[in-house]
Amino acid sequence: LFSLQKDRENKPKLVVLGTGWASVALMRRIDTKLYDVQCISPRNYFLMTPLLPSVSVGTVETRTVVEPVRPLVGTNIKFLEAECVDIDPEKKRVVCQSTPSIDGSQTNESQFSQRDVADNVGGSSSRRVHDGARTRPPFELDYDVLVVAVGAENNTFNTPGVDSHAHFLKELPDARRVRAAISDCFESASIPSQTEEERKRLLSFVVVGGGPTGVEFAAELSDMVHEDLSKNFPQLDRSEIRISLVEALDQILSMYDHKISEYTEKHFDRENISVLNSTFVKEVKQTEVVLQKRGSPEKDSLPCGMVVWATGIKPRPFVNSLRKRIGALQSNPRAVVTDTYLRVMGAPTMYAMGDCSSIQMPKVGDAIANLVPEDTKELDFEEFAALLKDRMHEYPQLESYAEQVKASFEKADLNQDGKLQISELKSLLDEADKLLRPLPATAQVANQEGKFLAQHLNKIAHGSDEEDLEPFRYRHLGSLAYVGGDKAVIDFSGTGVLQKFFGLEPINGRGAFYLWRSFYLTEMVTLRTKILLAFDWLRSKLFGRDISRV
Ligand code: NAD
Repeated sequence: LFSLQKDRENKPKLVVLGTGWASVALMRRIDTKLYDVQCISPRNYFLMTPLLPSVSVGTVETRTVVEPVRPLVGTNIKFLEAECVDIDPEKKRVVCQSTPSIDGSQTNESQFSQRDVADNVGGSSSRRVHDGARTRPPFELDYDVLVVAVGAENNTFNTPGVDSHAHFLKELPDARRVRAAISDCFESASIPSQTEEERKRLLSFVVVGGGPTGVEFAAELSDMVHEDLSKNFPQLDRSEIRISLVEALDQILSMYDHKISEYTEKHFDRENISVLNSTFVKEVKQTEVVLQKRGSPEKDSLPCGMVVWATGIKPRPFVNSLRKRIGALQSNPRAVVTDTYLRVMGAPTMYAMGDCSSIQMPKVGDAIANLVPEDTKELDFEEFAALLKDRMHEYPQLESYAEQVKASFEKADLNQDGKLQISELKSLLDEADKLLRPLPATAQVANQEGKFLAQHLNKIAHGSDEEDLEPFRYRHLGSLAYVGGDKAVIDFSGTGVLQKFFGLEPINGRGAFYLWRSFYLTEMVTLRTKILLAFDWLRSKLFGRDISRV
């Protein structure tokens, strides 16, 4: 017993910041016999973020997408609901503070006039209790190993009026507010003394950003209008409802295969969702959205009852100050830069993963000198591949662009022996390096990073030398999105095995919808929420969605 106790005291202190996809994947796999794990996060639950659009229209209930973090990670991991506000990498210390929050949101509520309307639920008998008796003094914690996985925040591109008049769809309180605001629009439009013009404005929903978040929200909203509106609001005319999806680029879902974008736009056309491509939202006002078509000097306006803003993410101020504190090696303004082991560049024993981080791949072009013996002047693809074989783990990206390298090898100017000059090989690899894009800020990437880091840290604690271990390698399993009317789209490109199995063509329609549903059902973290999700889908199919403003 004594030795156990002693061991426990000597365990390295692992502090994990965050309770999102990456942190939870790590905490569920880290060996707590090897590490003394302490998690800090302002949110004491894990959120199944991909289902937020479904929550915002009542297809799925809020508790279905929430996993309380303590039972999820087990009692061997200590959790404190607080926010890390500063990190001292030299002293290996984090400074934390916390304000008790009623709904878990970290936003300054006084800014949100439209959101306040949505929050003001329950009529005049409802009141807000400001309970100042619960105090939370700031505190500091020492760490041996720190994992930063604090996510990112909404990017408004400083567009005027977004903070005051638009809704985001990033956290659970956002989805609750959107649901209440939709209900508020329908209730307000039903008042008999409304003018026709005002009713039409109230029934005009504007979604800004044609990425997966905007597309899925527009799809869920359209489903709700088609399936449930006439039951709940028979007096409202469905043809007066307008859902507009505004996208700055020339197509929606631009990160997906172009066939998926085309399919989704056609499908949205049939579902009466108007897609405004190549259009920027320049300002959001209380009752209208100011638009500008690309290349046109003129501005236009679209009346709106409610606006959802889904134009992507940007780093949190905390991440920016951490980057500045670390210094020159943190040159990427969009994220904390790590190496392929997820180690933060310039900060020993600090790791970063998920949306707040970006992996810097070693340049294959630059590394040619390490790979090819000095006296080699030319070589063919097979020889190059053989040289790479032992060093492949240092260049995880090679796996994803091996095909392109091979193809350019074949097209390149080979001599009569089919060999390539080393200088040409270098420029060829430089070209291949340029193809390299940062990993997308998705749940899939964060989840895989969390799993990797847990195993990696476990191996280190067992005595493995970090440099001998395999670096992180992302395995893309496809991109999928729900597009409404029981249809989904799935893009398997870049998935290797899956692409071979499902074929090169993306999958659209009802088959994709069943795959989408089975995928989310399996991805739910616990059996409890799997059951809740299955029942929510059944409930909304049999009895319709509950869109009352509660
Ligand atoms: P996104 O960055 O993927 O898309 C934002 C879109 O908004 C872009 O197409 C951009 O051109 C457009 N935009 C920017 N400013 C605009 C303006 N002023 N007016 C009009 N359009 C404007 O953002 P997202 O959809 O919130 O997704 C964020 C991340 O989460 C992405 O990495 C995404 O892949 C991931 N995600 C994935 C899924 C899924 O796989 N089903 C679902 C949701 C989010």
